[in-house]
Amino acid sequence: MEASVYDYAIIGSGAAGLHLAAALSSDPYFKNKSLLILEKDPERDNYPTWCFWEKGKGKWDNIISKSWNKTIFTSQNGTQQNIGLGAYTYKMVHGKDFYLETKRRLEGSNQVYWVQQDVVDVMQGLPNRIKTKSGDEYLANHVFDSRIDPDFFEEKGKYSYLKQHFEGWVIETKEKVFYPDAFTMMDYRLVYPGTTSFTYILPFTPTQALVEYTFFSPDVVEKDVYKHYLNWYIKDFLKADDFKVLRTESGVIPMSDYPFHQYNNEYLTKIGTAGGWVKGSTGYSFKNAERKSRIIIENLKANKIPGLQLMKKRFRIYDTLFLDVLYSHNERGPAIFRDMYRKNDIKTIFSFLDEQTSLGKEIEVMNTFDKWLFFKTILKKLIRFE
Ligand SMILES: Cc1cc2nc3c(=O)[nH]c(=O)nc-3n(C[C@H](O)[C@H](O)[C@H](O)COP(=O)(O)OP(=O)(O)OC[C@H]3O[C@@H](n4cnc5c(N)ncnc54)[C@H](O)[C@@H]3O)c2cc1C
Repeated sequence: MEASVYDYAIIGSGAAGLHLAAALSSDPYFKNKSLLILEKDPERDNYPTWCFWEKGKGKWDNIISKSWNKTIFTSQNGTQQNIGLGAYTYKMVHGKDFYLETKRRLEGSNQVYWVQQDVVDVMQGLPNRIKTKSGDEYLANHVFDSRIDPDFFEEKGKYSYLKQHFEGWVIETKEKVFYPDAFTMMDYRLVYPGTTSFTYILPFTPTQALVEYTFFSPDVVEKDVYKHYLNWYIKDFLKADDFKVLRTESGVIPMSDYPFHQYNNEYLTKIGTAGGWVKGSTGYSFKNAERKSRIIIENLKANKIPGLQLMKKRFRIYDTLFLDVLYSHNERGPAIFRDMYRKNDIKTIFSFLDEQTSLGKEIEVMNTFDKWLFFKTILKKLIRFE
């Protein structure tokens, strides 16, 4: 018997796969299209907490567990900036809630099929042949794939590559030490020597928060380092001697200008981290996944290659430059971010990071950085390419 051919298959029901599935199933244009979702681990219980900024109302407001309209940036010398977010809100969603909500939204569609399968290969063609560990095969006209290509790990030396690595603790303190109205984007008072490292805080109540020690650096550190710096920060800077850890989370997010989009063609599109949807210079990708899914939808409707124009060249260049500077001068990160937050308003920073600024605005932002440092990096890069 001839196996059925799905119109689309999504490999991986993580942030990107779920965003894309939700976008496809909510658009009436796709109501007669079949979608297969292949996930190796459907009962995932290790979803992280995702945060993102957006203006006004958003698509996921019904599952936002906490939001903030103010942020705090603290530089190495202790100078604190309290920044109102204006039209923006910083929102937090629990991964599990996002998973359950997208699943609920997809339930209405009888064209969506979920299977628990570990995909081992995709033989590209029309249709694509998806091979799984169990030996079962599936056919689909277009595959959206969240598996990172192994070439990335082999070739990463050729590209700008930092790691955002961190450990976070949700803690409960005895005293009221948190100000739940403002989250801390970066606190540089406690820096691991020679690196770009900072504390990030999401306060939920005056006595409960996620406190995370984060690096943007070429190499990860021993587990004990995060632990030591978290304890140090909580005791000396929050002045909370008495606290208990309710939950921990950790991660390593690639910050790279690797050309992930090179794998996209008429048969297959890489999505999520595997598709370069993690913003190279920040490590954020949740909101990006929503945006890129929308572009894919528009491309499909216009009969174009789905992965067309997912990446903006100009912003890839900025990300490369930024990553190169941080790679070669990792110790300069605290000053670079201080200048960024001191000399630009938050609206400009957010829209720049969202890749929605004009060239004129981008030049203004560039002007707020240490020009000599960036110029040296460009020069070095040009010499390397000669
Ligand atoms: C702890 C943590 C916190 C983060 N916080 C934020 C944040 O606050 N804001 C933000 O914007 N970004 C954040 N990120 C970064 C980014 O949003 C996440 O890494 C995001 O999950 C990436 O989405 P993804 O779909 O590419 O990968 P994932 O969410 O990891 O999903 C990939 C899915 O594919 C499945 N899969 C993999 N291989 C196969 C296979 N062979 N066959 C079938 N299925 C497969 C996996 O099981 C998984 O479910 C965070 C990352 C981490 C690790």
